[in-house]
Amino acid sequence: MGKVRIGVNGYGTIGKRVAWAVMKQPDMELVGVVKTKPSWEALSATARGIRLYVPEGKEELFENTGIKVAGTVQDLLQAIDVVVDATPAGVGATYARRYREAGIKAVFQGGEEKSIADVSFNALYTYEAALGKASVRVVSCNTTGILRVLYAFRKVGNVRSVRVTIVRRGADLKEVKKGPIEGLLLKPAKPPSHHAEDVRSVAGHDLDIITYSVVAPTTLAHMHVMFVRFDSNVSRENIIKAFEETPRIVLLKASTASSTAEVRELARDLGRCGDIYEVIVWPESLWVKGNEAGVAYMVHQEAIVVPENIDAIRAITGIVEDGAQSIRLTDESLGISRWLP
Ligand code: NAD
Repeated sequence: MGKVRIGVNGYGTIGKRVAWAVMKQPDMELVGVVKTKPSWEALSATARGIRLYVPEGKEELFENTGIKVAGTVQDLLQAIDVVVDATPAGVGATYARRYREAGIKAVFQGGEEKSIADVSFNALYTYEAALGKASVRVVSCNTTGILRVLYAFRKVGNVRSVRVTIVRRGADLKEVKKGPIEGLLLKPAKPPSHHAEDVRSVAGHDLDIITYSVVAPTTLAHMHVMFVRFDSNVSRENIIKAFEETPRIVLLKASTASSTAEVRELARDLGRCGDIYEVIVWPESLWVKGNEAGVAYMVHQEAIVVPENIDAIRAITGIVEDGAQSIRLTDESLGISRWLP
């Protein structure tokens, strides 16, 4: 089988990172990306040599600002096997029918309703369930973070309940019109936040989980504090071992860097463009007493779902049937878990 041909609809925070990651995969080819406005993001694509496709009738608008257009959205849909839809939350739903009619498979993002796709996707949990499906929805950044940490806890024992407080970044770096610029916002006021249901859609509908969500005036990353209760007593050593053995989790000593600012800057210093695909777990934060454990960790919202999107493409096309193998391929290509000495 030749390379899988990919188009990315929506070249924003998530879409551009997925497009760059696709370009690094040996079994995928990026055909092009869709932009609706001739903004700086359109320039970012063409400057990297990425072909730009635009909605029908907008070719002139782009060409007039000096941005070269390769074709229309329809041209792109006809030239690809899989579309990664990374349009703003809710916009993906307006394209779903068009993707089906074009006969292509689709990867949607966490801002869409669960019902948009056949499977809610996380590579550690639902790779096999997604094999050969027409569409999947990669769950959101916070949900992905919770799922990876929960996966490690489940290696240690039977998890009876999960309680998470999520401190969410208020906006991404480029979102100049968004806040809050002061204050912490409990959103929603009544728990659980939507993340609990989202985690259940992947980890199992009978999971006892409650999440609180607090929006904070920062653009750098989310921070979570998770408490779990097991059926029987657990040991600190076994939990640390489970974190070490779980893909896409990195243990970083708080004595080295305990703030989201320091960790992001460290990632920049070590050649990652500041992008952190892994959940960063602080080992000092691990608290264990009998059958209870608690831990704090960081989730870089702009990057964490990127490897999941790559695995989602392999799952729905069936080019790799084994989830663990796809994870290895993706992680190798993106330098995952190898950026810290
Ligand atoms: P974004 O606003 O940064 O990017 C969306 C892109 O889609 C922009 O380039 C915009 O110009 C383009 N667009 C807008 N309308 C369009 C249309 N009708 N057709 C084609 N393109 C259109 O958004 P984002 O933050 O990348 O979010 C995309 C999805 O990823 C959402 O579902 C979101 O919930 C999810 N997500 C976001 C984050 C995050 O932290 N930013 C993390 C995980 C998941």
